[in-house]
Amino acid sequence: EWVEFNYFFKSIIGRFEFSKSQEVQFIRLLSSSELFVEIDTDKMTQVLDNIISNALKYSPDGGDIRFGITMSEDFIKVMISDDGMGIPQANVKRIFDRFYRADRARSRAMGGTGLGLAIAREMILAHGGEIWAESEEGKGTTIFFTLPFELQEDGEWG
Ligand code: ATP
Ligand code: MG
Repeated sequence: EWVEFNYFFKSIIGRFEFSKSQEVQFIRLLSSSELFVEIDTDKMTQVLDNIISNALKYSPDGGDIRFGITMSEDFIKVMISDDGMGIPQANVKRIFDRFYRADRARSRAMGGTGLGLAIAREMILAHGGEIWAESEEGKGTTIFFTLPFELQEDGEWG
């Protein structure tokens, strides 16, 4: 299904902003151009739900969550960044592994299975994109993913 990604992303962000219980501020850094991508919207919703619920789960009160989209010639890059506890450097790559959870005691208290990001990764790869994380302990985490897209050329329909 073809969707305009800013619009699609905004509607998911809005749903989380409306239902969140924490004092966390949402900051949108979306793209001013229209970005049409062909995606499985159910799967992409699941990807974003997983990433955003992690950002909320690991965010302190008073923190910000930033939502960004940038584009290059043939892909869009989406980022979701939080001011949370972060992930130890040695473990950042492993958060996309099945059942991996950074801190057992903390993770048990937080709930969840450790599958969210593994599923997100599978779905992004199936869309032809990539997903990765940057994190600093005590400072926060940013999840990035890319999706290929093609700029509509003038005259294509005529
Ligand atoms: P589930 O998503 O299945 O409910 P989960 O959130 O623990 O469980 P993942 O979403 O796969 O599992 O995340 C794996 C682990 O990566 C988490 O347990 C947590 O330790 C770490 N992690 C993920 N996102 C963040 C984040 N934004 N800040 C800090 N740690 C994170
Ligand atoms: Mg999760």
